[in-house]
Order: sequence, then C-alpha cells, then structure tokens
Amino acid sequence: MEELSPMMKHYKIVKEQNPDCIIFYRLGDFYEMFFEDAELCSRELDLTLTKKSCGNGNFAPMCGIPYHAYEVYLKRLIDKGYRVAICEQFMQPGKKGIVDREIIRIVTPGTIIEDTILESTQNNYIASICMQKDAIGLVYSDISTGETNVQQLTGNTAFDKLDDVLAKITPKEIISNSFAAERQTELLCVMSGIVPSFYPFQDTAFEAMHASSKIKKHFEVNSVAALGIEADKQVVCALGALLSYLENTQKTKAQSISKIEIVQEKETVQIDYNSRKNLELVENMTTKSKKGSLLWVLDKTKTSIGARTIKTFVQEPLCNIKKINDRLNAVEELYSNSVVLSEVQDTLSHLSDIERIASRISYNTVSPFDLLALKETLRQMPQLRTILSPLKTELIVRARESVCDITTLSNLIDRAIKPNLDRVHDNIKNGGFLNNGYSEELDNLRNAKQIGQKWLIDYEAQQKEATGIKNLKVGYNRVFGYYIEVPRSQIDKVPYEFNERKQTTANYERFVTDALREMETKILSSEEQALKLEFRLYDEIKTNILAYVSPIISISNAIGLIDTLASFAYIAQKNGYTKPLMVDGNRAIKIKNGRHPVIEQILPTGDFVPNDTLLDSEENRTIIITGPNMGGKSTYLRQVAAITLMAHMGSFVPATSAEISLIDKVFTRIGASDDLLFGQSTFMVEMTEVANILNNATENSLLLMDEVGRGTSTYDGLSIAWAVMEDLSKRVRAKTLFATHYHELTTLEETTGGVKNYRVMVSERGDKPEFLHKIVRGSANKSFGIDVAKMAGIPKHVIERAKEVLQKEEVRAQLLED
Ligand code: ATP
Repeated sequence: MEELSPMMKHYKIVKEQNPDCIIFYRLGDFYEMFFEDAELCSRELDLTLTKKSCGNGNFAPMCGIPYHAYEVYLKRLIDKGYRVAICEQFMQPGKKGIVDREIIRIVTPGTIIEDTILESTQNNYIASICMQKDAIGLVYSDISTGETNVQQLTGNTAFDKLDDVLAKITPKEIISNSFAAERQTELLCVMSGIVPSFYPFQDTAFEAMHASSKIKKHFEVNSVAALGIEADKQVVCALGALLSYLENTQKTKAQSISKIEIVQEKETVQIDYNSRKNLELVENMTTKSKKGSLLWVLDKTKTSIGARTIKTFVQEPLCNIKKINDRLNAVEELYSNSVVLSEVQDTLSHLSDIERIASRISYNTVSPFDLLALKETLRQMPQLRTILSPLKTELIVRARESVCDITTLSNLIDRAIKPNLDRVHDNIKNGGFLNNGYSEELDNLRNAKQIGQKWLIDYEAQQKEATGIKNLKVGYNRVFGYYIEVPRSQIDKVPYEFNERKQTTANYERFVTDALREMETKILSSEEQALKLEFRLYDEIKTNILAYVSPIISISNAIGLIDTLASFAYIAQKNGYTKPLMVDGNRAIKIKNGRHPVIEQILPTGDFVPNDTLLDSEENRTIIITGPNMGGKSTYLRQVAAITLMAHMGSFVPATSAEISLIDKVFTRIGASDDLLFGQSTFMVEMTEVANILNNATENSLLLMDEVGRGTSTYDGLSIAWAVMEDLSKRVRAKTLFATHYHELTTLEETTGGVKNYRVMVSERGDKPEFLHKIVRGSANKSFGIDVAKMAGIPKHVIERAKEVLQKEEVRAQLLED
C-alpha cells in the first residue's frame, strides 16, 4: 500500500490514542473529519460526505464544517454525549514547510467553556468520584466559573448522600475510579432523568500519591493540609484525578480552579433526591422545566452570575442561623429601601458574565469581545458601590467592599482593544482589534500597508494618464496578487513596462509590472507582519491579565450575591412576603396565613386561601390532615415545606408572620414516582421511601407524608400507615405532616402523644360539595371521592352504581363494627 500523507498519518495516530473521541481536524478555514469520524458526523450532523485525496492516490471519506460555525456542531455532538478532540496544525516559525500537528483540546460535556454552548443561567458541573470501601470522595467543579467543591461522604448512608448531591448539582459529566464505575448503574438509577456522561478515568490518577502530588503542584502548596483536606483521603484522590483529567483534556493546567470550597454536611439542609423532585425546587415534575418551580417564582435576578447563585441558594438552604439571619437582614434592608433596590437592579441588568470571562482568561481562550465586556462591567462597579453605600447590613457591606473597578485592568483593556468591535469571528482572525496607538511597531506596519494602498490608487491614476486607457484598473486576487487590468479592445495601447501577462479573461488582459510587484511584496509582508505582531501582542495581554482572575472572581461572587438578595427583596415586595423569625434549637414552626408560593402565582389574584400552621417538638409534632379529594391537602403539605425552606434560604416567606425553627433535613413521601422505569412497583417505591425516612429522620427533621399506604389493599395500607405514624410520633419525634384518606388514623390523637387532627373544610350546600381549602382542627369523615369523580366527567350511570356500592359497604362495615 502506498504511503499516506503526513496529515493522514497523524490523524490515524490521534485516533488510535483517542478512540473514544471524534477528531475535528483544523485545515485552514475548516474543521474536517476523516474516516469513521466523517461517517459518524455526516450521520449525526447531517453533513455531506465526500472523498478526499490523502496522498499518493489514496482517498478517504471526509466531511467538513466552517471554522466560524464549529461551535454549533460541537454543541450538537456534545449534547449527544460524544467527546470531541480538536486538532490543529501549526507552521513552525522560521522553518518553512515544517508543520506541527497536535490536539489542542478535548471537549467533553463537563469541560465546555464556550459561552455559545453553555447555558448562561446554570452551572455546568463535572464531578469526580473516588469510591472506596469505607468512604466516598466527591469533587464537583464548574470549570467555566472555577467554582470547585469537595465533600467527603462517610458512614453507611454515604451512597445515599452521594445520590442526593448528584441530584442537586446534576453534573453533565462524571469521572470515577473503576470501583465506582462498577456501581454506575446503581448510581444512575437513582438519578432517573439525569443521565450524565460517565467516564471511568485511569485508576492511577486516583492513587493517593499521584493525586496529592498533582494537587500540591496545582495549588503550589507543600502539603494537602494547606487546603484543609488532609484527613479526607478519598477527596484528595478525587481532586487529584480531576486535575489530571482536566489537564489531559484541556492540554493546560486547570487555571480557573484556584481554590476549593469544603462542603460541610451540617451547613445545609439535607434534601434527598425524591424530596427535591417532589418539592419542585428548581424544576417542575411534569416537564422538568423551570416554569412552575420555586426557583421560577424567586428568580428575578438580572445577571447570569446572579441566576446561577440564586439557583444554588434554592438548592442549598442553610442550617446555620447566623448565616441565614445575615441574608434575611440584607434582604430586609433592600426591601425597605425601594429606591436603592431598583437602582441596584437597574445597574445589574447592564453587567456581563465576568465569572465565565475570568475562566476563559484562565484557559487562554478569552476574546477581545470578552475583554470589552469585562471593561464595561468593571467600569460600572464604582456606580454600584455608590448605590449600595447607604446600606449597612453585614453581607451587603462585605459585598460592596468587593465590587471595585480594577482600574489598571480596565485601563489596559481600554488602551489595547478597539471599542465597538463588530462581533464576527473573522474579525479576530484577520486582526485589526488592537487599538491604533497601542504599539508603535504595529502602527508602523499598519501605516506601511495604508501607504501602499495609497500608492496603488496613485499608480492606477498615473497609468491611466500615461497609456490613455480610461478603463485601466489596478486589482487584486488571492491567486495572482496585484495586477493591472486592461480591456482587450485597448490592448494595442499597452506599454512595454507591462512586461508580464498574468491572466486572460473573456474581456480583459491582466498584467504585472516590476513596480507593482515590488509594492505587492511590501504590502503583503507588512500585512503579514502586522497580523503576527498583533497576535503576539494579544498573547502578551492575555498573559498579563491572568493575574487579575482572582479579583475578577471576587467581584463576580459579590455581584451574584447582591443580585440574589435583590431578587429576594424584589419578590418579597411584589408578592407580599414577610421576614421569618428564625429560631435555634428544636422549637416550633408557627406560620400565620401561609400561602403556597407557586400555586398562588398560578391562581387568579386573591383566590388562594391562606392557612396557619403549628408544628412543634411537643404537643403538635404530628399533624394528621384528613379531607376530601381536591381539598388542598397536598398543597398545604408542600406549602409548609416551601415556606420553611425559603426561610432557610434567607428569603422572605408568603405569610403574614412566620416563626421557623431550624431543621436539619426534609423528607417527602408524595405521589407516585417515575422509578417504575427502573423496575420497581409503585408500592415498592413508596415503601422504600418510607423506610429511608424512618431510618434517617431526626427530631429536627420536617416530614411530609402524603397518603402513605394507598398503593396496596385498604387494610394492609391502613395498618402500615398506622404503624409508621406511631413510630414517627413516638420514636423519631420529627415534625410531621401526614395527609390521609384513612379516617381511622384520626383516633391516634387520643392514644398517641403529640398527634393533632386537622381537616379541610367543605361546604355541602347544594348538590355538590364546595372545597374551601381551609385547614381547621378536627377530623373529616368523608372523602367526597365520588363527587370529585363526577366533576371529572365519569358517566352518570357509573357514578350512581358507585354510590350504591358505597352505601352497601358502609352498612357492612357498620355491622362488622357492631
Ligand atoms: P387529593 O386527595 O385528591 O390528592 P388534595 O386534597 O391533596 O387532593 P390538592 O391537590 O392539594 O388537593 O389541591 C387541589 C387543587 O385545589 C389545587 O390544584 C389548587 O388549585 C386548589 N387549592 C389547593 N389549596 C388551595 C388553597 N389554599 N387555596 C386555593 N386553592 C387551593
């Protein structure tokens, strides 16, 4: 077989080394795919497949995409779970014809930094899991912002906790050691609906020695103790492996990761996967979109940084009373200063996503447009500072101190980058983005080009005059360079100096003269040199501004915080929320006129019926709610959890007053789960969830139990619900709301301490019940199931028959009782 071209040989080597990647090969203005990649891309991206010569008579299938549009195609492949290696070829400076080819980056779902591909309001996490017999080390990082969190999970619930965190952060990619990879199915099972790209990475990267030396080198420290993770062996392994993985894929040190946050389990309210789903914190259960979720109501942030921050606030309600009160006090101050609040929000709405720009600076991929946006944002900081200056609460004062214009940086950008650049990719490739006056050398080269162009105009005029050919023109094309064009009809007037005939077209002849050739060399070489110099200068700028990454990140953290607090304050004003009073120790949850934050937005204004709540650690720790179908029991349960969690987030709450005792965990057992997909029956799922609650709830937890036991026969269900209730009330002593249609359970109030009965009021005037949605003390004796069935449109004869059966059953039950 004849030799392949050097490029093809290189492609084959790259493919062999990275069999799990699609290779994008940059050739001039195109990225091309060869062989099997081409066929796959043609299929996945709907591209045309062609045959390309690959040297000495060989042809290979190929397809290509224009360089300026590659991000669109990259996104489509990444969304489908592919990994893409981007390969470029470079001319070696000074050595004509010698080409270096290398992978400049491997793009994977968790390592995207392109603004055009990322979702601006969401973090794009990559998680690294090191699972060993005794503990799990978890690290999750958003390399587009640099945020990196580490958490050591221990004890026999470590696996469950891992699921909870993964459910919270919904990583786009997980890397793991092989021990964890073997448990991949179990892991992903729980995260139904979220199927991240799972990548078992080399076990050597997870080895303790290797990992800790990687960490020490990366953070430039002598010991991992400097980061506070020396006791967390598995965290060290997961973090070291993540750094290796990022270096492997990014082909550079993971610059954006400059510090780590150690996640303390005790710092946030624990919410397991099911409860997150059931409580619809950040997405609704049906369509899995933000609309209809708690975040949807609370998020009125003005910046992408703020949108990501508020999402974290909603997903991670705090357990630390000081931190919660700091937030609440700051929200209160903004709430009571409407003018400041609207000025803050107005200023925020003009800011760019400087957190992600900082990350692109770290990865050396920052564009001149990014720098302009960064400058504009920095220049707004003094104004934001002034607006915030009347506010005195601790959190705002601290945030205000961080927002500053890094004048040396904004001045540097101002001097270097032309304002009003047109956002077209070609602009950068063709240079011209550095300001005139930034570099004398560059100005001289650019002037030389301009002088040359002026010379061409004069030369054309001179030649027209000298030859008398009115239509004579000086033109340029890529193949032949500069030429003089003469209509063929006037060819006899061409003088001797037009000594080289370049091209003949239907109507024109094109010539070159010695003078023109000389000028062409000058123009083209000054153009080329100017371009090279411009990029060299830009590289220097990029290196210089690396030092500013850390201050930019602190500014962006402050922006995220201010934006989130302002959003809480704005929503509190708009929706009529009040500041909750947080109380430490196992005390009471007392809510006056509480409303469900989401349902009240969906119903016509004023239609939502407010309800009170009293849950404490003594006489009112278990609330049984009975009442008709459609009465509002589930809504009430969720509303108590939503208000309690909102208070723990530092948000005001939909109530006229609220005293909220700190909670450690929330558990919910609500409705059918979609885990049927994973081969568990509805009842099995329900019982697994109840088991989890009984095993893990504490007296400081809040439990929502909606119709426990309904998935099996009436008597089995009732007995299970009864036993569960008793255990919760007597042993666990958690604050529990228990909605049920088993009216028999209401007798527990008399026999079990701490149980209180409530019911949903119904008005029975007329022929159909009217649901008043009011929760009052006492127990219901009817479910109105048949009435609801009638309202739902069940045919009349079926309804009549159901009434007959019900009557008979009631008589039979009465006889049995007697
Ligand atoms: P089921 O027993 O059939 O599950 P339920 O008692 O749990 O019913 P919900 O699902 O909570 O009833 O509520 C039914 C509907 O009633 C809700 O969709 C909502 O529109 C309305 N609703 C609930 N609570 C209130 C309220 N406090 N004020 C006004 N409308 C409400």
